[in-house]
Amino acid sequence: MNDYLETNLPDVYACGDCAEIRAKEPGGRNRIEQLWYTARMQGEALARIICGERVPYDRGIWFNSAKFFDLEYQTYGQVSPQPGDDEDSFYWEHPDRKHALRIAYRKPGMQVIGFNAIGIRLRHRVCERWIREGRTLDEVIRHLPEANFDPEFYQRFEAEVARQYAASRHAVSEAAAV
Ligand SMILES: Cc1cc2nc3c(=O)[nH]c(=O)nc-3n(C[C@H](O)[C@H](O)[C@H](O)COP(=O)(O)OP(=O)(O)OC[C@H]3O[C@@H](n4cnc5c(N)ncnc54)[C@H](O)[C@@H]3O)c2cc1C
Repeated sequence: MNDYLETNLPDVYACGDCAEIRAKEPGGRNRIEQLWYTARMQGEALARIICGERVPYDRGIWFNSAKFFDLEYQTYGQVSPQPGDDEDSFYWEHPDRKHALRIAYRKPGMQVIGFNAIGIRLRHRVCERWIREGRTLDEVIRHLPEANFDPEFYQRFEAEVARQYAASRHAVSEAAAV
């Protein structure tokens, strides 16, 4: 099928696990996106298309999310294993080593470019919007509770994350003042 989720048969569409989006460029790789989120996004795109609004399905900013037994992770945007010269990241980890958060940003303006979360559920739509809008690390840390969608009564870690972030900023400004 194509970016409009149309198959080779008229009025027959595909989305979700059963769908394979054909590469546009010759020799390009077809896309199979077997994720819950992409299934929902394709369903939403298809609803618009069959209602007459012919806009292509767009996965948007890269993301993935999974659960392995009781360990959950999400990744949104770009978190490079080897950050480039203009990239850096803020990292927080709980002493139990089951909860961790890395937020990658571009160094000049500290615009956030990616998130890796383990053991904390972060909302896809909120993180994607923050990346798209070029929100700074300061803003993201301040508004972190807005991104959380852990179930009720789960332990929350935003305050600890913010404390560590504030301490790291303080250390940076102290070093700059020396
Ligand atoms: C074990 C496992 C773990 C996963 N973990 C993750 C994860 O951590 N994160 C993530 O994002 N994604 C995960 N996924 C993938 C995610 O569940 C799927 O990508 C998503 O559910 C696909 O949605 P879908 O609507 O295309 O298909 P489905 O959710 O499979 O829905 C298809 C529906 O069609 C029904 N059906 C089948 N045949 C017929 C028929 N002939 N007539 C009527 N109904 C029919 C089925 O019963 C089913 O309800 C996981 C999948 C599995 C199997």
